[in-house]
Amino acid sequence: MVKIVEKVFSKVMQKTSAYSNNVRAIVDQLVEGVNVSREDIVYLLTYISNDDAVYLFEKANEIKTRFYQNRVFLRALIEISNYCTRECYYCGISGLVSRNDRFRMDRSTLMSSIDQAAFKGYQTFVIQGGEDPFFTTDLLVEYIKTIKDKYPTHRITLSLGEKTYQEYQRLFDAGVDRYLLRHESASKKLYNEIHGPSMIFEKRRSCLFDLKRIGYQVGAGFMVGLPNQTADDLASDLLFLKELEPEMVGIGPYIVHDKTLMKNASSGGYLETTIMVALARLILPKALIPATTALGVLEPLGREKALLRGANVLMPNVSPKDNLVKYEIYKNKTYAKDQTLDELGVRVGEMGLTLDFSQGDVYGWRQQND
Ligand code: SAM
Repeated sequence: MVKIVEKVFSKVMQKTSAYSNNVRAIVDQLVEGVNVSREDIVYLLTYISNDDAVYLFEKANEIKTRFYQNRVFLRALIEISNYCTRECYYCGISGLVSRNDRFRMDRSTLMSSIDQAAFKGYQTFVIQGGEDPFFTTDLLVEYIKTIKDKYPTHRITLSLGEKTYQEYQRLFDAGVDRYLLRHESASKKLYNEIHGPSMIFEKRRSCLFDLKRIGYQVGAGFMVGLPNQTADDLASDLLFLKELEPEMVGIGPYIVHDKTLMKNASSGGYLETTIMVALARLILPKALIPATTALGVLEPLGREKALLRGANVLMPNVSPKDNLVKYEIYKNKTYAKDQTLDELGVRVGEMGLTLDFSQGDVYGWRQQND
């Protein structure tokens, strides 16, 4: 299979480029908040050089610093189930993959993971999992209320896939603050190539608009380096972000998992993915943008370095060790072993950044909603 991203970012490995002035002019327009056209984004993604990328990263870092200074928000990630009914052709826990290590967390394990995270100082718990019918909305509401009773000022983020408007509303009413649901790809053609027929492009997007309407801080996002992904597809992703205006944006490389239908495709690249992170920062200056775990799989200190390219959130995995191995959505995920918070603090400290243990709402959220 062709690694299309090489074509998309066709000049990215060159030292200089005759197109550099134009690329930088588009970056400058984005910095100024000008609505750039699809054609301009495609041009940028096609002709950006290595040096232009450095220029882009500096701008992204400046904008991030304007709103969030040198702070890096922390979230405790808890993976509650690797059962999934969905047909994502790229995902190692998809219902299409045969595995004999499916697990779901019981109440006491979930609560002890939450307690440990709170003890370490986290003020946001991110509960993520496959679309597992065991976790009915009734059950989730019960869990959320228990957590909120114990930790009323902590934030709860869910990432449990597509639900009806009423289900999202009930979870919100129970105390969930944020919801992560990557749109995966804003190109209908590409979306349909990487998902089975039960996954409806329009449904995923309408879920995101439902979440916004209800009042969640919403996270959209996409993968970079998918097979057959073009510059136009990635431009669609950025334009969709502009349209939805999510509070959070999760962008990660596609990474191969050898038990999936896409096992023969190659993984996305680090540089390309962080270019998209930086562009997302320019398009949504105030967004919360995690340096995703997958970036750390591609390159040593890959997550940390992304914090100087527009990202401002880290989500260390606090799930029990056993589950870490089983929640293997892509190859080598378990290698992204999380350091202790002290080690992480030192690493980001060396980069001039500091871990921020507050709730970490999006810029302006408190004023707007309290
Ligand atoms: N079920 C929830 C959902 O659909 O949003 C959350 C769990 S899902 C496993 C979380 C994210 O993992 C997806 O949004 C997808 O982008 C990412 N993911 C899955 N497989 C991946 C792969 N092979 N490479 C990179 N990211 C992957």
